Amino acid sequence: MSATEQHRRPVGQVKEVTSLANPLVKDIKALALKKFRDEQHAFMAEGLKLVIDALDLGWSIKTLVFAKSAHGNAAVEKIAARTVAAGALVLEVSEKVLSAITRRDNPQMVVGVFTQKYLPLKDIRPAGDDVWVALDRVRDPGNLGTVMRTIDAVGAKGLILVGDTTDPFSLETVRATMGSVFAVPIARATAEQFLAWRKSFPGLVAGTHLKGAVDYRSVDYGGRPVLLLMGNEQQGLPDELAAACDKLLRIPQAGRADSLNLAVATAVMLYEVRRTALKLPTEAGQ
Ligand code: SAM
Repeated sequence: MSATEQHRRPVGQVKEVTSLANPLVKDIKALALKKFRDEQHAFMAEGLKLVIDALDLGWSIKTLVFAKSAHGNAAVEKIAARTVAAGALVLEVSEKVLSAITRRDNPQMVVGVFTQKYLPLKDIRPAGDDVWVALDRVRDPGNLGTVMRTIDAVGAKGLILVGDTTDPFSLETVRATMGSVFAVPIARATAEQFLAWRKSFPGLVAGTHLKGAVDYRSVDYGGRPVLLLMGNEQQGLPDELAAACDKLLRIPQAGRADSLNLAVATAVMLYEVRRTALKLPTEAGQ
């Protein structure tokens, strides 16, 4: 790096904050509301491991907040140094401030504020045996976060949010992802944009439906990209999305329940679609 480049490199700052009235704290607290997350293109993630993973995966940190009690903790100091080197802000705060930011009585020692990232739909080019999941108007943050965690766990490629959905960057969703928010690319589309994009999908578009005629275990998913389309929690898949699927699959049920929970149904499907690709290390000969 040249001397000029070194000179231009942004250098962050470290500040100590104890007052809830501090404007920096107010801005971070405001991230609890979608309006402010959208305005600031930002979101919060709690926990040292998550923040380290996010930085390792190339996410851009805006602010690192850590508890005074973590002062001297080697891992926290290292992540603070990385944050400062990236030109971002580090706030050392009281427990009271951390509790207010995270709305928790026993907050984690570390909170990171990151820039939101979406993948443009046109940049998704499925190939090989790639698996993508599309969720139609998902409403529940716990469901969305759990689906993202499962996509990550099975090694699927990412998620497409269709229509008006709950925010993948809300605190509840991020918590439910257990860190997978940083590993799973997210695209978003209106139903019209999704239907237009689907026309050039080079593999199997598998919808799931309570009236599906095909047992989900009877399909050979291998050797081609798969797009798994899941319906809204209350209404299921609307007709125009169901009609765009190559197959409508059903997971058999025996008891009195009308349907499975969305995140559970997605997990059952993903494990079937990825069945041959997923092996324990011993089976894979490692
Ligand atoms: N009342 C809704 C309906 O009529 O479709 C129930 C929706 S269910 C809670 C949410 C989504 O999970 C469904 O749209 C479907 O994608 C999936 N799902 C749940 N149980 C399923 C099953 N037994 N077979 C196939 N898909 C299922």
